[in-house]
Amino acid sequence: MSVDICVLGSGSGGNCTYIGTPKTRLLVDAGFSMKETARRLATIQVPLESIQAIVISHEHADHIHGVETLVKNLNIPVFIAPAAFEASRISRNKYPVEPIRAEECFTVGDIRVQPFAIPHDSVEPLAFCVVAEGIKTSIVTDLGYIPELVKQRVAGSHCLVFESNHDLEMLKVGPYPWFVKQRVMSRHGHLSNDTTAQFFAEDYDGQAVHVLLAHISQKNNHPEIVRMSMVQVFESRGLPPEKIQLTHQDEPAPLLRF
Ligand SMILES: [Zn+2]
Ligand SMILES: [Zn+2]
Repeated sequence: MSVDICVLGSGSGGNCTYIGTPKTRLLVDAGFSMKETARRLATIQVPLESIQAIVISHEHADHIHGVETLVKNLNIPVFIAPAAFEASRISRNKYPVEPIRAEECFTVGDIRVQPFAIPHDSVEPLAFCVVAEGIKTSIVTDLGYIPELVKQRVAGSHCLVFESNHDLEMLKVGPYPWFVKQRVMSRHGHLSNDTTAQFFAEDYDGQAVHVLLAHISQKNNHPEIVRMSMVQVFESRGLPPEKIQLTHQDEPAPLLRF
């Protein structure tokens, strides 16, 4: 009895997380090509062909880029909100599409998934709590602020994957055009390091065994700034900073086994 969790990659260049039990193996988001997804899965000794389903958070390219090729070739279902599917321009092929909605739990094998709504500039954005073998993993990225509901949903997570997208100062002076900067900073954009740090300082229940900071911008953030700001928060609360890990765009984060 075990649960394996690996954030295979995270950021605006592609997102994909593997969650597996001895019975069930699924991906949350499919932002990489099939070849790249297979390569990253191979680093944790998981054959691509053993993946049984893909769950999609929203239709932005960094979350669905590889989904069509993957489901077509593997002949596996994709779980996606109907509006996100419509907006995704995934062709209506013969592979099975399973509609999902916020607050409607579903199961894939022995893994239970609870989708919940988040504020983001896509049509029906979702984040997920995934429960397998009694282990709760929450994957929360691509949101402009942290509503009360999100705080409630992630409570009691053993593994918490949480966005820390940008450093506000770096974003302001960074290379993005002004309208993109405004979008990122808006209430339907992405979480800044400060907003995420505030959540961990004031609202986080301190229970997770692993906290993975995710969707870290390569242009408007720096891994060490993310780490430092979170380590400060953990130390000020007397929580062990070793629990903090960063996810990466170009390589998988370490495999976590419960
Ligand atoms: Zn994204
Ligand atoms: Zn997005």
